[in-house]
Amino acid sequence: YSTSAGIENPINPSIKVHCTQLLINGNFVDSASGKTFPTYDPRTGDVIAHVAEGDAEDIDRAVCAARKAFDEGPWPKMTAYERSKVLFRFADLLDKHIEELATLETWDNGKPYEQSAKIELPMISRIIRYYAGWADKIHGLTIPADGPHLVQTIHEPIGVAGQIIPWNFPLLMFAWKVGPALACGCTIVLKSAEQTPLSALYAAKLLHEAGLPPGVLNVVSGFGPTAGAALASHMDVDKLAFTGSSETGKIVLELASKSNLKPVILELGGKSPFIVCKDADVDKAVELAHFALFFNQGQCCSAGSRTYVHEDVHDEFIEKAKARALKRSVGDPFKAGVEQGPQIDSEQFEKILRYIRSGIESGAILITGGDRLGSKGFYIQPTVFTNVKEDMLIAQDEIFGPVQSILKFRDMDEVIRRANSTRYGLAAGVFTNDLDTANTLSRALKVGTVWINCYDVFDAAIPFGGYKMSGQGREKGVHCLSNYLQVKAIVAPLKNP
Ligand code: ADP
Repeated sequence: YSTSAGIENPINPSIKVHCTQLLINGNFVDSASGKTFPTYDPRTGDVIAHVAEGDAEDIDRAVCAARKAFDEGPWPKMTAYERSKVLFRFADLLDKHIEELATLETWDNGKPYEQSAKIELPMISRIIRYYAGWADKIHGLTIPADGPHLVQTIHEPIGVAGQIIPWNFPLLMFAWKVGPALACGCTIVLKSAEQTPLSALYAAKLLHEAGLPPGVLNVVSGFGPTAGAALASHMDVDKLAFTGSSETGKIVLELASKSNLKPVILELGGKSPFIVCKDADVDKAVELAHFALFFNQGQCCSAGSRTYVHEDVHDEFIEKAKARALKRSVGDPFKAGVEQGPQIDSEQFEKILRYIRSGIESGAILITGGDRLGSKGFYIQPTVFTNVKEDMLIAQDEIFGPVQSILKFRDMDEVIRRANSTRYGLAAGVFTNDLDTANTLSRALKVGTVWINCYDVFDAAIPFGGYKMSGQGREKGVHCLSNYLQVKAIVAPLKNP
Protein backbone atom coordinates (compact mmCIF):
# COMPACT_ATOMS: atom_id res chain seq x y z
CA TYR A 1 0.00 0.00 0.00
CA SER A 2 1.17 3.46 -0.73
CA THR A 3 0.96 5.89 2.12
CA SER A 4 0.64 9.61 1.83
CA ALA A 5 2.82 11.88 3.90
CA GLY A 6 1.13 11.70 7.29
CA ILE A 7 -0.32 14.85 8.71
CA GLU A 8 0.52 15.22 12.35
CA ASN A 9 -2.19 14.43 14.84
CA PRO A 10 -2.08 17.09 17.56
CA ILE A 11 -3.17 14.65 20.25
CA ASN A 12 -1.10 11.57 19.67
CA PRO A 13 1.72 12.44 17.27
CA SER A 14 2.61 8.81 16.69
CA ILE A 15 -0.74 8.28 14.94
CA LYS A 16 -0.87 9.70 11.45
CA VAL A 17 -3.29 9.71 8.54
CA HIS A 18 -1.83 7.24 6.06
CA CYS A 19 -4.74 6.17 3.87
CA THR A 20 -6.19 8.99 1.81
CA GLN A 21 -6.54 7.46 -1.65
CA LEU A 22 -9.34 5.37 -3.08
CA LEU A 23 -9.10 1.63 -2.48
CA ILE A 24 -9.84 -0.14 -5.75
CA ASN A 25 -9.00 -3.74 -6.57
CA GLY A 26 -6.72 -4.04 -3.54
CA ASN A 27 -4.65 -0.94 -4.34
CA PHE A 28 -4.70 2.59 -3.01
CA VAL A 29 -5.05 4.80 -6.08
CA ASP A 30 -5.73 8.42 -6.96
CA SER A 31 -9.10 9.36 -8.38
CA ALA A 32 -9.41 9.35 -12.16
CA SER A 33 -9.79 13.13 -12.16
CA GLY A 34 -6.87 13.59 -9.77
CA LYS A 35 -9.16 15.69 -7.58
CA THR A 36 -9.07 15.68 -3.79
CA PHE A 37 -11.26 17.18 -1.09
CA PRO A 38 -10.43 18.29 2.44
CA THR A 39 -11.70 16.53 5.53
CA TYR A 40 -11.97 18.75 8.60
CA ASP A 41 -11.35 18.53 12.32
CA PRO A 42 -14.70 19.54 13.89
CA ARG A 43 -12.91 20.83 16.98
CA THR A 44 -11.42 23.70 14.99
CA GLY A 45 -12.64 23.53 11.41
CA ASP A 46 -9.01 23.00 10.29
CA VAL A 47 -8.14 20.60 7.49
CA ILE A 48 -6.89 17.19 8.67
CA ALA A 49 -6.07 15.74 5.26
CA HIS A 50 -6.86 15.96 1.57
CA VAL A 51 -8.57 12.82 0.37
CA ALA A 52 -8.94 11.48 -3.17
CA GLU A 53 -12.35 12.48 -4.49
CA GLY A 54 -14.10 9.64 -6.29
CA ASP A 55 -16.63 10.31 -9.00
CA ALA A 56 -18.64 8.29 -11.55
CA GLU A 57 -15.52 7.06 -13.32
CA ASP A 58 -13.99 5.78 -10.08
CA ILE A 59 -17.25 4.15 -9.05
CA ASP A 60 -17.24 2.42 -12.41
CA ARG A 61 -13.68 1.18 -11.92
CA ALA A 62 -14.58 -0.04 -8.45
CA VAL A 63 -17.73 -1.81 -9.65
CA CYS A 64 -15.72 -3.51 -12.42
CA ALA A 65 -13.25 -4.78 -9.83
CA ALA A 66 -16.05 -5.98 -7.55
CA ARG A 67 -17.82 -7.64 -10.50
CA LYS A 68 -14.68 -9.50 -11.52
CA ALA A 69 -13.99 -10.59 -7.94
CA PHE A 70 -17.56 -11.86 -7.74
CA ASP A 71 -17.87 -13.55 -11.13
CA GLU A 72 -14.38 -14.99 -11.35
CA GLY A 73 -13.79 -15.50 -7.68
CA PRO A 74 -12.11 -16.15 -5.44
CA TRP A 75 -14.46 -14.70 -2.83
CA PRO A 76 -17.82 -16.37 -3.49
CA LYS A 77 -15.99 -19.51 -4.59
CA MET A 78 -13.93 -19.83 -1.42
CA THR A 79 -15.38 -22.10 1.21
CA ALA A 80 -17.58 -20.34 3.71
CA TYR A 81 -15.12 -21.40 6.41
CA GLU A 82 -12.27 -19.64 4.57
CA ARG A 83 -14.36 -16.50 4.32
CA SER A 84 -15.24 -16.65 8.00
CA LYS A 85 -11.56 -16.99 8.90
CA VAL A 86 -10.75 -13.77 7.03
CA LEU A 87 -13.46 -11.97 9.00
CA PHE A 88 -12.24 -13.39 12.32
CA ARG A 89 -8.70 -12.26 11.51
CA PHE A 90 -10.06 -8.83 10.60
CA ALA A 91 -11.81 -8.60 13.98
CA ASP A 92 -8.53 -9.45 15.72
CA LEU A 93 -6.77 -6.67 13.78
CA LEU A 94 -9.53 -4.22 14.73
CA ASP A 95 -8.91 -5.07 18.38
CA LYS A 96 -5.17 -4.71 17.93
CA HIS A 97 -5.50 -1.29 16.29
CA ILE A 98 -8.12 0.25 18.58
CA GLU A 99 -5.94 3.25 19.37
CA GLU A 100 -5.32 4.25 15.73
CA LEU A 101 -8.90 3.59 14.66
CA ALA A 102 -10.46 5.40 17.62
CA THR A 103 -8.11 8.35 17.10
CA LEU A 104 -9.01 8.66 13.42
CA GLU A 105 -12.70 8.36 14.30
CA THR A 106 -12.60 11.08 16.93
CA TRP A 107 -10.34 13.32 14.89
CA ASP A 108 -12.55 13.18 11.82
CA ASN A 109 -15.95 13.03 13.55
CA GLY A 110 -15.53 14.85 16.88
CA LYS A 111 -17.06 12.15 19.09
CA PRO A 112 -15.46 11.58 22.51
CA TYR A 113 -12.35 9.40 22.25
CA GLU A 114 -13.47 7.29 25.19
CA GLN A 115 -16.69 6.52 23.34
CA SER A 116 -14.77 5.60 20.16
CA ALA A 117 -12.23 3.42 21.94
CA LYS A 118 -14.23 1.84 24.75
CA ILE A 119 -17.75 1.55 23.33
CA GLU A 120 -17.69 1.64 19.54
CA LEU A 121 -14.52 -0.23 18.61
CA PRO A 122 -15.48 -3.25 20.76
CA MET A 123 -18.94 -3.20 19.14
CA ILE A 124 -17.31 -3.09 15.72
CA SER A 125 -15.09 -6.14 16.18
CA ARG A 126 -18.03 -7.90 17.85
CA ILE A 127 -20.30 -7.43 14.84
CA ILE A 128 -17.58 -8.63 12.48
CA ARG A 129 -17.17 -11.79 14.61
CA TYR A 130 -20.94 -12.22 14.72
CA TYR A 131 -21.13 -12.32 10.92
CA ALA A 132 -17.91 -14.34 10.67
CA GLY A 133 -19.80 -16.92 12.68
CA TRP A 134 -22.72 -16.87 10.24
CA ALA A 135 -20.63 -17.36 7.08
CA ASP A 136 -20.61 -21.17 7.30
CA LYS A 137 -24.13 -21.51 8.69
CA ILE A 138 -26.08 -20.16 5.72
CA HIS A 139 -28.05 -22.90 3.99
CA GLY A 140 -31.33 -23.69 2.31
CA LEU A 141 -34.09 -26.23 2.80
CA THR A 142 -35.40 -29.45 1.37
CA ILE A 143 -39.08 -28.80 0.81
CA PRO A 144 -41.89 -31.37 0.58
CA ALA A 145 -43.85 -30.42 -2.57
CA ASP A 146 -47.24 -31.73 -3.70
CA GLY A 147 -45.89 -33.38 -6.82
CA PRO A 148 -43.28 -36.12 -7.12
CA HIS A 149 -40.44 -33.64 -7.04
CA LEU A 150 -37.30 -33.13 -5.10
CA VAL A 151 -37.30 -29.46 -4.14
CA GLN A 152 -34.31 -27.71 -2.64
CA THR A 153 -33.50 -24.11 -1.97
CA ILE A 154 -29.99 -22.80 -2.03
CA HIS A 155 -28.95 -19.37 -0.77
CA GLU A 156 -26.58 -17.65 -3.14
CA PRO A 157 -24.80 -14.32 -2.60
CA ILE A 158 -26.70 -11.58 -4.39
CA GLY A 159 -23.62 -10.24 -6.18
CA VAL A 160 -22.03 -6.81 -6.08
CA ALA A 161 -23.33 -4.73 -3.18
CA GLY A 162 -23.22 -0.92 -3.30
CA GLN A 163 -23.10 0.52 0.20
CA ILE A 164 -23.47 4.18 1.15
CA ILE A 165 -22.80 5.16 4.74
CA PRO A 166 -23.21 8.31 6.86
CA TRP A 167 -20.81 10.28 9.05
CA ASN A 168 -22.34 9.86 12.53
CA PHE A 169 -20.88 6.38 13.20
CA PRO A 170 -18.40 5.99 10.33
CA LEU A 171 -16.74 2.76 11.46
CA LEU A 172 -19.78 1.17 13.04
CA MET A 173 -21.77 1.73 9.85
CA PHE A 174 -18.85 0.31 7.87
CA ALA A 175 -19.00 -2.84 10.03
CA TRP A 176 -22.82 -3.15 9.86
CA LYS A 177 -22.53 -3.03 6.09
CA VAL A 178 -19.45 -5.05 5.17
CA GLY A 179 -19.81 -7.78 7.85
CA PRO A 180 -23.01 -9.40 6.56
CA ALA A 181 -22.27 -8.78 2.87
CA LEU A 182 -18.86 -10.47 3.10
CA ALA A 183 -20.22 -13.34 5.20
CA CYS A 184 -22.76 -14.03 2.47
CA GLY A 185 -20.07 -14.06 -0.24
CA CYS A 186 -20.88 -10.72 -1.87
CA THR A 187 -18.33 -8.25 -3.16
CA ILE A 188 -18.65 -4.56 -2.32
CA VAL A 189 -18.21 -0.99 -3.42
CA LEU A 190 -18.58 1.20 -0.36
CA LYS A 191 -18.91 4.98 -0.43
CA SER A 192 -18.07 6.62 2.86
CA ALA A 193 -19.49 9.98 3.92
CA GLU A 194 -17.58 13.01 2.66
CA GLN A 195 -17.32 14.39 6.22
CA THR A 196 -15.60 11.26 7.58
CA PRO A 197 -13.61 9.32 4.98
CA LEU A 198 -10.58 8.37 7.10
CA SER A 199 -11.50 5.43 9.32
CA ALA A 200 -13.15 3.34 6.57
CA LEU A 201 -9.97 3.50 4.48
CA TYR A 202 -7.85 2.39 7.40
CA ALA A 203 -10.25 -0.42 8.33
CA ALA A 204 -10.35 -1.59 4.71
CA LYS A 205 -6.55 -1.72 4.71
CA LEU A 206 -6.68 -3.97 7.80
CA LEU A 207 -9.26 -6.18 6.11
CA HIS A 208 -6.81 -6.75 3.26
CA GLU A 209 -4.08 -7.55 5.77
CA ALA A 210 -6.48 -10.15 7.16
CA GLY A 211 -6.46 -11.89 3.79
CA LEU A 212 -9.31 -10.33 1.82
CA PRO A 213 -8.61 -10.89 -1.90
CA PRO A 214 -8.30 -7.79 -4.13
CA GLY A 215 -11.52 -6.40 -5.57
CA VAL A 216 -13.78 -7.88 -2.88
CA LEU A 217 -14.09 -4.60 -0.97
CA ASN A 218 -13.52 -1.32 -2.78
CA VAL A 219 -13.80 1.96 -0.89
CA VAL A 220 -14.53 5.18 -2.75
CA SER A 221 -14.49 8.45 -0.82
CA GLY A 222 -16.51 11.25 -2.38
CA PHE A 223 -19.70 13.25 -2.42
CA GLY A 224 -23.30 12.10 -2.54
CA PRO A 225 -24.66 13.63 -5.74
CA THR A 226 -21.58 12.46 -7.68
CA ALA A 227 -20.03 9.25 -6.31
CA GLY A 228 -23.09 8.21 -4.28
CA ALA A 229 -25.54 8.75 -7.12
CA ALA A 230 -23.25 6.91 -9.56
CA LEU A 231 -23.23 3.92 -7.24
CA ALA A 232 -27.00 3.94 -6.67
CA SER A 233 -27.67 4.08 -10.40
CA HIS A 234 -24.94 1.71 -11.60
CA MET A 235 -26.29 -1.02 -13.88
CA ASP A 236 -23.87 -3.63 -12.58
CA VAL A 237 -24.60 -3.21 -8.87
CA ASP A 238 -26.96 -5.94 -7.67
CA LYS A 239 -27.97 -4.54 -4.28
CA LEU A 240 -27.92 -1.15 -2.62
CA ALA A 241 -27.61 -0.61 1.12
CA PHE A 242 -28.04 2.96 2.29
CA THR A 243 -27.93 4.67 5.67
CA GLY A 244 -28.63 8.39 5.84
CA SER A 245 -31.44 10.91 5.78
CA SER A 246 -34.95 10.09 4.58
CA GLU A 247 -34.62 12.78 1.88
CA THR A 248 -31.54 11.13 0.40
CA GLY A 249 -33.14 7.70 0.89
CA LYS A 250 -35.89 8.74 -1.53
CA ILE A 251 -33.30 9.85 -4.08
CA VAL A 252 -31.27 6.62 -3.99
CA LEU A 253 -34.41 4.48 -4.15
CA GLU A 254 -35.44 6.35 -7.27
CA LEU A 255 -31.98 6.01 -8.81
CA ALA A 256 -32.00 2.29 -8.06
CA SER A 257 -35.41 1.77 -9.63
CA LYS A 258 -34.71 3.93 -12.66
CA SER A 259 -31.50 2.05 -13.43
CA ASN A 260 -31.63 -1.71 -12.97
CA LEU A 261 -34.28 -2.14 -10.24
CA LYS A 262 -31.66 -3.27 -7.77
CA PRO A 263 -33.23 -4.06 -4.41
CA VAL A 264 -32.54 -1.47 -1.72
CA ILE A 265 -32.25 -1.57 2.03
CA LEU A 266 -32.74 1.81 3.68
CA GLU A 267 -31.92 2.86 7.23
CA LEU A 268 -33.13 6.45 7.50
CA GLY A 269 -34.05 9.16 9.95
CA GLY A 270 -36.09 9.10 13.11
CA LYS A 271 -37.95 11.21 15.64
CA SER A 272 -38.14 8.65 18.38
CA PRO A 273 -40.36 9.12 21.43
CA PHE A 274 -38.98 8.43 24.90
CA ILE A 275 -41.95 7.95 27.21
CA VAL A 276 -41.59 8.53 30.94
CA CYS A 277 -44.59 7.02 32.73
CA LYS A 278 -46.08 8.23 35.99
CA ASP A 279 -44.58 5.44 38.11
CA ALA A 280 -41.04 6.33 36.97
CA ASP A 281 -38.13 6.86 39.32
CA VAL A 282 -37.51 10.40 38.12
CA ASP A 283 -33.76 10.48 38.68
CA LYS A 284 -33.23 7.34 36.66
CA ALA A 285 -35.67 8.46 33.96
CA VAL A 286 -33.88 11.79 33.60
CA GLU A 287 -30.52 10.09 33.23
CA LEU A 288 -31.73 7.64 30.59
CA ALA A 289 -33.71 10.26 28.65
CA HIS A 290 -30.62 12.46 28.69
CA PHE A 291 -28.47 9.64 27.31
CA ALA A 292 -31.14 8.73 24.72
CA LEU A 293 -30.99 12.24 23.26
CA PHE A 294 -27.50 13.60 23.89
CA PHE A 295 -25.42 10.52 23.10
CA ASN A 296 -23.05 11.15 20.16
CA GLN A 297 -23.80 14.91 20.23
CA GLY A 298 -27.43 14.06 19.45
CA GLN A 299 -26.31 12.76 16.07
CA CYS A 300 -28.11 9.41 16.19
CA CYS A 301 -30.90 8.30 13.88
CA SER A 302 -32.38 6.59 16.94
CA ALA A 303 -32.08 9.65 19.23
CA GLY A 304 -34.93 9.87 21.74
CA SER A 305 -35.77 13.32 20.46
CA ARG A 306 -39.32 13.65 21.79
CA THR A 307 -39.29 13.17 25.56
CA TYR A 308 -42.89 12.55 26.66
CA VAL A 309 -43.29 12.96 30.41
CA HIS A 310 -46.41 12.13 32.43
CA GLU A 311 -47.95 15.18 34.09
CA ASP A 312 -47.56 13.69 37.60
CA VAL A 313 -43.77 13.71 37.32
CA HIS A 314 -43.36 16.43 34.70
CA ASP A 315 -42.30 19.39 36.86
CA GLU A 316 -39.76 17.40 38.84
CA PHE A 317 -38.50 15.88 35.59
CA ILE A 318 -37.87 19.18 33.82
CA GLU A 319 -35.96 20.65 36.76
CA LYS A 320 -33.73 17.61 36.89
CA ALA A 321 -33.37 17.38 33.09
CA LYS A 322 -32.18 20.97 33.09
CA ALA A 323 -29.68 20.28 35.89
CA ARG A 324 -28.39 17.22 34.06
CA ALA A 325 -27.93 19.14 30.79
CA LEU A 326 -26.07 21.89 32.66
CA LYS A 327 -23.79 19.26 34.17
CA ARG A 328 -22.96 17.70 30.79
CA SER A 329 -19.28 18.07 30.09
CA VAL A 330 -18.72 19.53 26.64
CA GLY A 331 -15.27 20.08 25.20
CA ASP A 332 -12.32 18.64 23.33
CA PRO A 333 -13.37 15.06 22.59
CA PHE A 334 -9.82 13.81 23.13
CA LYS A 335 -9.91 14.91 26.81
CA ALA A 336 -10.80 12.28 29.39
CA GLY A 337 -14.23 12.67 30.94
CA VAL A 338 -15.68 14.76 28.12
CA GLU A 339 -19.20 13.59 27.27
CA GLN A 340 -19.90 15.80 24.27
CA GLY A 341 -17.63 17.00 21.48
CA PRO A 342 -18.37 19.31 18.56
CA GLN A 343 -21.03 18.70 15.90
CA ILE A 344 -19.72 17.25 12.67
CA ASP A 345 -19.49 20.37 10.49
CA SER A 346 -20.60 23.95 9.97
CA GLU A 347 -23.64 22.89 7.95
CA GLN A 348 -25.06 20.72 10.74
CA PHE A 349 -24.02 23.31 13.34
CA GLU A 350 -25.94 26.08 11.55
CA LYS A 351 -28.93 23.81 10.97
CA ILE A 352 -29.18 22.95 14.67
CA LEU A 353 -28.98 26.62 15.65
CA ARG A 354 -31.78 27.36 13.15
CA TYR A 355 -33.95 24.68 14.77
CA ILE A 356 -33.25 26.17 18.20
CA ARG A 357 -34.43 29.59 16.93
CA SER A 358 -37.48 27.95 15.38
CA GLY A 359 -38.30 26.29 18.73
CA ILE A 360 -38.19 29.64 20.52
CA GLU A 361 -40.26 31.37 17.81
CA SER A 362 -42.92 28.65 17.85
CA GLY A 363 -43.49 29.06 21.61
CA ALA A 364 -41.46 26.27 23.17
CA ILE A 365 -39.76 27.30 26.42
CA LEU A 366 -35.97 27.20 26.38
CA ILE A 367 -34.88 26.17 29.89
CA THR A 368 -31.18 25.77 29.23
CA GLY A 369 -28.62 26.08 26.43
CA GLY A 370 -29.69 27.46 23.08
CA ASP A 371 -26.41 28.77 21.72
CA ARG A 372 -22.99 27.81 20.48
CA LEU A 373 -20.27 27.06 22.99
CA GLY A 374 -17.01 28.97 22.63
CA SER A 375 -16.00 30.72 19.46
CA LYS A 376 -14.06 28.01 17.63
CA GLY A 377 -15.22 24.68 16.21
CA PHE A 378 -18.78 23.39 16.11
CA TYR A 379 -19.71 23.07 19.78
CA ILE A 380 -23.33 23.57 20.86
CA GLN A 381 -24.62 23.96 24.41
CA PRO A 382 -26.77 21.08 25.64
CA THR A 383 -30.22 22.50 25.05
CA VAL A 384 -33.57 21.65 26.63
CA PHE A 385 -37.01 22.84 25.55
CA THR A 386 -40.23 22.32 27.48
CA ASN A 387 -43.81 23.04 26.47
CA VAL A 388 -43.15 21.42 23.11
CA LYS A 389 -46.17 20.58 20.94
CA GLU A 390 -46.37 18.11 18.06
CA ASP A 391 -47.10 20.79 15.47
CA MET A 392 -43.78 22.56 16.13
CA LEU A 393 -40.97 21.93 13.69
CA ILE A 394 -38.67 20.86 16.54
CA ALA A 395 -41.10 18.04 17.34
CA GLN A 396 -41.43 16.92 13.73
CA ASP A 397 -38.03 17.19 12.09
CA GLU A 398 -34.90 15.29 12.86
CA ILE A 399 -32.62 17.96 14.42
CA PHE A 400 -29.59 15.67 14.78
CA GLY A 401 -28.13 17.75 17.57
CA PRO A 402 -28.03 18.19 21.36
CA VAL A 403 -31.56 19.56 21.66
CA GLN A 404 -34.02 17.82 23.96
CA SER A 405 -37.73 18.52 23.48
CA ILE A 406 -39.99 17.71 26.43
CA LEU A 407 -43.73 17.18 25.93
CA LYS A 408 -46.27 16.65 28.71
CA PHE A 409 -48.94 13.92 28.55
CA ARG A 410 -51.84 12.71 30.67
CA ASP A 411 -52.97 9.21 29.67
CA MET A 412 -51.87 6.16 27.75
CA ASP A 413 -54.15 6.37 24.72
CA GLU A 414 -53.16 9.98 24.29
CA VAL A 415 -49.42 9.32 24.45
CA ILE A 416 -49.70 6.38 22.04
CA ARG A 417 -51.52 8.56 19.53
CA ARG A 418 -49.09 11.44 19.93
CA ALA A 419 -45.98 9.27 19.90
CA ASN A 420 -47.15 7.68 16.64
CA SER A 421 -48.04 11.01 15.05
CA THR A 422 -44.84 11.27 13.04
CA ARG A 423 -43.70 10.22 9.60
CA TYR A 424 -40.86 8.31 11.23
CA GLY A 425 -40.91 4.96 13.02
CA LEU A 426 -37.39 3.99 13.96
CA ALA A 427 -37.33 3.45 17.72
CA ALA A 428 -38.94 4.31 21.05
CA GLY A 429 -38.01 4.30 24.71
CA VAL A 430 -40.43 3.37 27.48
CA PHE A 431 -39.61 4.08 31.09
CA THR A 432 -41.85 2.28 33.58
CA ASN A 433 -41.87 -0.44 36.23
CA ASP A 434 -45.38 -1.49 35.32
CA LEU A 435 -45.53 -4.62 33.19
CA ASP A 436 -48.94 -3.86 31.69
CA THR A 437 -47.82 -0.39 30.66
CA ALA A 438 -44.62 -1.75 29.12
CA ASN A 439 -46.53 -4.43 27.21
CA THR A 440 -49.22 -2.05 26.00
CA LEU A 441 -46.79 0.60 24.81
CA SER A 442 -44.32 -1.76 23.19
CA ARG A 443 -47.07 -3.28 21.07
CA ALA A 444 -48.82 -0.02 20.22
CA LEU A 445 -45.80 1.96 19.07
CA LYS A 446 -45.19 1.80 15.32
CA VAL A 447 -41.42 1.52 15.46
CA GLY A 448 -38.68 -0.97 14.64
CA THR A 449 -37.18 -1.10 18.16
CA VAL A 450 -38.70 -0.50 21.59
CA TRP A 451 -36.21 -0.13 24.43
CA ILE A 452 -37.84 -0.67 27.82
CA ASN A 453 -35.90 0.90 30.71
CA CYS A 454 -32.79 1.00 28.52
CA TYR A 455 -31.81 2.80 25.32
CA ASP A 456 -29.48 2.42 22.34
CA VAL A 457 -28.70 -1.22 23.10
CA PHE A 458 -27.09 -2.21 19.80
CA ASP A 459 -26.15 -5.84 20.23
CA ALA A 460 -24.91 -7.46 17.01
CA ALA A 461 -27.71 -10.03 17.13
CA ILE A 462 -30.61 -7.57 17.53
CA PRO A 463 -32.31 -6.56 14.26
CA PHE A 464 -32.48 -2.80 13.61
CA GLY A 465 -34.55 -0.85 11.14
CA GLY A 466 -37.53 1.38 10.70
CA TYR A 467 -41.25 1.46 10.16
CA LYS A 468 -42.76 4.16 7.94
CA MET A 469 -40.29 6.70 6.52
CA SER A 470 -37.49 5.47 8.77
CA GLY A 471 -36.59 2.81 6.26
CA GLN A 472 -37.04 -0.56 4.66
CA GLY A 473 -35.56 -3.85 5.79
CA ARG A 474 -33.43 -4.74 8.80
CA GLU A 475 -29.74 -4.67 9.58
CA LYS A 476 -27.81 -6.67 12.20
CA GLY A 477 -28.82 -10.07 13.45
CA VAL A 478 -29.91 -12.97 11.29
CA HIS A 479 -32.35 -10.68 9.48
CA CYS A 480 -29.58 -8.81 7.71
CA LEU A 481 -28.33 -11.89 5.88
CA SER A 482 -31.37 -11.96 3.62
CA ASN A 483 -30.35 -8.55 2.22
CA TYR A 484 -27.31 -10.13 0.64
CA LEU A 485 -28.72 -13.48 -0.49
CA GLN A 486 -30.82 -14.74 -3.34
CA VAL A 487 -32.97 -17.80 -2.72
CA LYS A 488 -32.85 -20.23 -5.61
CA ALA A 489 -35.38 -23.08 -5.86
CA ILE A 490 -34.11 -26.20 -7.60
CA VAL A 491 -36.78 -28.67 -8.67
CA ALA A 492 -36.25 -32.13 -10.18
CA PRO A 493 -38.55 -35.13 -10.63
CA LEU A 494 -38.05 -37.85 -8.06
CA LYS A 495 -38.00 -40.36 -10.85
CA ASN A 496 -36.92 -39.45 -14.35
CA PRO A 497 -39.75 -39.91 -16.89
P1 ADP B 1 -26.68 13.91 6.00
O1 ADP B 1 -27.65 14.96 5.58
O2 ADP B 1 -26.78 13.52 7.41
O3 ADP B 1 -25.27 14.14 5.56
P2 ADP B 1 -27.20 12.19 3.79
O4 ADP B 1 -28.35 11.28 3.66
O5 ADP B 1 -27.14 13.36 2.87
O6 ADP B 1 -27.17 12.59 5.30
O7 ADP B 1 -25.83 11.40 3.65
C1 ADP B 1 -25.67 10.03 3.88
C2 ADP B 1 -24.82 9.45 2.78
O8 ADP B 1 -25.52 9.59 1.55
C3 ADP B 1 -23.47 10.11 2.58
O9 ADP B 1 -22.51 9.14 2.24
C4 ADP B 1 -23.73 11.04 1.40
O10 ADP B 1 -22.59 11.35 0.64
C5 ADP B 1 -24.69 10.20 0.58
N1 ADP B 1 -25.52 10.97 -0.36
C6 ADP B 1 -25.95 12.25 -0.25
N2 ADP B 1 -26.66 12.62 -1.34
C7 ADP B 1 -26.68 11.55 -2.17
C8 ADP B 1 -27.23 11.30 -3.47
N3 ADP B 1 -27.90 12.24 -4.14
N4 ADP B 1 -27.05 10.07 -4.02
C9 ADP B 1 -26.38 9.12 -3.34
N5 ADP B 1 -25.82 9.30 -2.14
C10 ADP B 1 -25.96 10.49 -1.54
